[in-house]
Formats: sequence, C-alpha cells, structure tokens
Amino acid sequence: MSDNLSRQRQLLLDLLYPPACPLCMTAVADHHALCARCWSELALLERPFCERLGLPFAVDLGGPILSAEAMANPPVFQRARAAARYEGGARTLTHRLKYGDRLEIARLMARMMMRAGPDILSDADMIVPVPLHYGRLWMRRFNQAGTLSAELSRLTGVPWQPQVLERRRYTRSQVGLSRSKRASNLQAAFHVSQQRRPFVEGRRILLVDDVMTTGATANACARTLLVAGAVNVDVLVFARVVMAD
Ligand SMILES: [Zn+2]
Repeated sequence: MSDNLSRQRQLLLDLLYPPACPLCMTAVADHHALCARCWSELALLERPFCERLGLPFAVDLGGPILSAEAMANPPVFQRARAAARYEGGARTLTHRLKYGDRLEIARLMARMMMRAGPDILSDADMIVPVPLHYGRLWMRRFNQAGTLSAELSRLTGVPWQPQVLERRRYTRSQVGLSRSKRASNLQAAFHVSQQRRPFVEGRRILLVDDVMTTGATANACARTLLVAGAVNVDVLVFARVVMAD
C-alpha cells in the first residue's frame, strides 16, 4: 500500500474510531496513549531505585546502589524493572488486559515497559513470557504475559519464544506449606523440555510478566532457565506491588 493510501486509511479509521484514553475515554491525539491527566496520576517507577530489585528508595543516595534487601536476599534473576506501581490506573490497565483482551491496551503497556527497561531490553537475546498453565489459559483465553511479550518483541526487534518455558498442569496447592516448601513447590511448576534447551543455552533472557508481587514466580522461572543453560535472566513487568516502608 502506498504511503498516501495508508494515510487515508488511517484518517478514515480515526474518524470511525477516534483515539480515546483507555482509562477515562477522553479524546486523545494518538492511539495507544493515555490522556495527560491519567498519565500524571500513574505512579511510575523511576530512579533512584535498587539496581537489582528495581524497588524505589525513599531518598536519593547518589549513584547506582543496591538495597539492603537485595544484599541480604539476592534474587535469582539479575535485574528487575517495572513501569509503574500496581495501583490506580496501572492496576486498572492490568485488569482490562487480563479480562478484556484489548490489544490497544497491550500496545500502550508494552510502550511503557520499553521506557522502564531500555538497558535490560538492549542486553536481551530473547524475550520469554511467564507461562500460565493450560487450565488458566483456557479460562482467560490468552496469556497476558504472552501478549505483552509479543508487543515488546514487535517494538524492539528482540525475538520472543513463548514455548521455551512451560508450566506443568498440576501443582500441589500452596496452602499450608512453609516458605521453603512453597518455593520448591513453585519451582517444580516450571520446566524447559530437552528439545527446547538449545534455545536457552548461552542466552541472555528477558522474562516478561504483567504484574510482580513477591518475586517468587520470577525467581522460580529464572532458576529454571539458568539450570537449562541461560547465562543471565532479567525481569521486566508492567506493574509492581510496592510495600509501604
Ligand atoms: Zn484519561
């Protein structure tokens, strides 16, 4: 299609579906963008933060620095980054993506993730989504981590491999297990099959999910990928639960 034709097509589409803020539906200039007000109300996660965990510091201590938490309990992954705190508009976007399969929201979220993790994206050989097990995949119709991974891959050119990391169908309930039992139970849920190992060996992998809470899932996935031969695993999520100090 010529440039002229595709521009005309876009103008027609904009007339039929005028760009609107996906949170408040106010008219905006660009598709896949929030209005200025909704944008200003997001709690973006920006430096200063712990270079390992990506969690914000209350005060700027100057220069790259690790949090006490990262030194006391180093994560299995190398670095984690998130676009926003999991609250307000960021939480609403995550819910709409999960239950409404809206691709324009995935596009907006992936753009925000790209801004949050330019360093870990440029270091990555491959993007791998945190998998859902089949039961949940069927219930929700699609894996939101997979959708965000596909968008990030399209935006950055970094290939994505949705089949590398698998989640086994049956895992024991976590209820009533101790912290270490819970971790090993979760660990057993993730798996790289023998025939997928060549995709992982020697690679720097960027693990992608929509939300990160305790980091236990990210750690279990990272350990599985490292055991399968990955040289490095970083984590990029859209929103992060940040506990109050
Ligand atoms: Zn808005």
